[in-house]
Amino acid sequence: MQIDIITLFPEMFQGPFDWSILKKAQQKEALKINFVNPRDFTEDAHRTVDDRPYGGGKGMLLKAEPLFRAVRQVKKKSSWVVYLSPKGKPLEQSQVKKLSQKQHLILVCGHYEGVDERFLKGVDLVLSIGDYVLTGGEIPAMVLVDAVARLLPGVLDVEATREESFAAKRLESPHFTRPQVWRGRRVPSLLLNGDHQEIATWRESQSLKLTKSLRPDLLTKTKRIQEAKSKSISV
Ligand code: SAM
Repeated sequence: MQIDIITLFPEMFQGPFDWSILKKAQQKEALKINFVNPRDFTEDAHRTVDDRPYGGGKGMLLKAEPLFRAVRQVKKKSSWVVYLSPKGKPLEQSQVKKLSQKQHLILVCGHYEGVDERFLKGVDLVLSIGDYVLTGGEIPAMVLVDAVARLLPGVLDVEATREESFAAKRLESPHFTRPQVWRGRRVPSLLLNGDHQEIATWRESQSLKLTKSLRPDLLTKTKRIQEAKSKSISV
């Protein structure tokens, strides 16, 4: 997969993209990341990318034209353009999975008070990483790239990602490692008996219990989707 990131601050990505799974994904050539700076697509001496909002108000907005030209520079037929914004659709694992199946993503990072609304006409998807406001789209883009990279073929063991939290709208069951007794706390004895079927059943029930207690909304949502599917209506 190719990901082009449209950002005023490409240096921010040094570090997060140079370690662990993201490094491995790039080394294995499962993922190729490129940065495009909208400042390189300005025409004035000051390389201006922002301006004041019409109608007044605090802060500056990113101008549409440098962003548009930056996207146009890398856009192909197969590209999927995503703008990161707190006003976007909340990012969920199901969406991450869909994006991991695209050939080319272009991620646009906003800054200041956001972007000129007219730029959004050329965007396929607006995504939010949560109900809070960050300074720029760079950290949300890092979050999205990390989540997508984990699902790319050859990067992680498929089994490992299949059992993770949210893969089946549930939280993953608890895990334990050595020693068997740590500060007086024992590993559940069932995990030591070598019966894989029994362990799988235990993990399933723990996953359900944990989800009911910490994220009951996930189960309600799954139930609603199943009910809607059985009635063949869209949700
Ligand atoms: N004025 C905007 C608003 O109230 O909706 C917030 C702008 S924010 C300070 C600047 C940029 O950070 C946004 O254009 C967006 O690209 C990014 N950003 C901030 N919070 C985000 C979030 N929760 N998810 C995705 N992107 C976010």
